[in-house]
Amino acid sequence: MQDVDVLIIGSGPAGSSTALHLCRIDSRWAGRILVLEKAVHPRPKVCSGALSHHGAWVLKRLGLNPQIPHLTLNQLRIIHGNRHYTFRGDPVVRVFQRSFFDHWLAQETRKQGVRVHENESARAIIIDSNSRNENENQTGGSAGVIVQTDRQTYRAQMLVIADGSRSNTRKLLKWPFQSRDMARMLDITTAMNPTGQSMLREKRADLFFNRMAAGIQGYYWDIPSLRDGQYYVNRGLFDSRIITARNRLPLKPELDRYLRAPKRNVQLSDAELKSHPYHCFNPDNSFSRPRILLVGDAAGSDPLFGEGISFALGYGSIAANHIHRSFQKNDFSCRSYRDDLLADPVIKELSFRTKLARLAYTFENHKFIHFCWGVASLGIHFTPWSRKDHRPAPDFD
Ligand SMILES: Cc1cc2nc3c(=O)[nH]c(=O)nc-3n(C[C@H](O)[C@H](O)[C@H](O)COP(=O)(O)OP(=O)(O)OC[C@H]3O[C@@H](n4cnc5c(N)ncnc54)[C@H](O)[C@@H]3O)c2cc1C
Repeated sequence: MQDVDVLIIGSGPAGSSTALHLCRIDSRWAGRILVLEKAVHPRPKVCSGALSHHGAWVLKRLGLNPQIPHLTLNQLRIIHGNRHYTFRGDPVVRVFQRSFFDHWLAQETRKQGVRVHENESARAIIIDSNSRNENENQTGGSAGVIVQTDRQTYRAQMLVIADGSRSNTRKLLKWPFQSRDMARMLDITTAMNPTGQSMLREKRADLFFNRMAAGIQGYYWDIPSLRDGQYYVNRGLFDSRIITARNRLPLKPELDRYLRAPKRNVQLSDAELKSHPYHCFNPDNSFSRPRILLVGDAAGSDPLFGEGISFALGYGSIAANHIHRSFQKNDFSCRSYRDDLLADPVIKELSFRTKLARLAYTFENHKFIHFCWGVASLGIHFTPWSRKDHRPAPDFD
């Protein structure tokens, strides 16, 4: 049995961010953290890779500069039928190849001196009996969380669950799970076509909310992307299912219909189609247990747009501060983690988007939704997001 102070399961943005933030608080943390990653970086990841200003600021505060190939987009067009409004920014998002982005973050984590064990998967978790009913302050001793992997057994003083939307670890711990929090996503990367070229020139991504009235609680997307040095158009469909009572449409025919539209003219081939569940944030859920914290998709992310990278990075900062304080106070109850989350500006944005998603995806009347689009397109003129020179994200150079 190996003893470790902080064990992090998963080296996606949430896990790496937690480790990096701990090192930023105090460089001595580096030797006290172990990150377990079941895959080997750069590992495949179903994701469009769009990083918003929220995530860019987290990286900036960490002193990190993502000098890896990416596209910068200056327009995010939000479309409903013949109405649209545009969020502008210079840039409004940066689009990364996810496998490279996560690889880079894991390398940055290693550079701090943190051990990252790739190709090692957490298989079982046993709560040390001393910590099972840990409502009191911990006084140390042998209590901890025992994690068995395919290679080793570890006893951790604190465990961070950062293993993504599917989170097998959450299942192992029989964490209460609400199926209404599980969104659906389909993703397909297609060759560049003339529409894609013009989007690339205009530095623009399009989100189509046309099927909201029919039951899609989300949107289709067309996002120019870069993969292994080549330009593509990443397309997909996000259905948050946040209003469970509404009609559940089969996603594949929906995506097929959208892909066949004349401007796209793409055939849906099963080989290219990837589907992935997506765990949405719900402020009523539990986010911690004694000695255990959830971060990133394992805790829950944005049900309005399906944005998760920035929030995963944001969770890392909150978890790191909480862990640092837990060790300082020798209190591993993790009772205040929820309050820490809900007080943080990044998670406040997540809570706001959750409320907005619950409201926006309730409406079934096409005309009313269309009217709202008209109002929004007027409203956007009064915000900085209408200006071409708006700089929501920091410069990295
Ligand atoms: C189709 C699609 C498109 C998306 N597009 C965007 C987008 O454009 N912008 C955006 O912001 N968000 C997007 N998202 C959401 C985003 O991908 C996630 O929110 C983000 O990856 C969450 O990061 P994470 O670190 O919590 O989890 P993950 O990135 O999923 O990382 C979890 C890590 O844990 C590892 N792991 C799992 N189990 C174990 C185990 N037992 N032991 C050890 N390691 C383990 C995995 O290998 C993985 O590396 C998209 C999602 C989907 C499905």
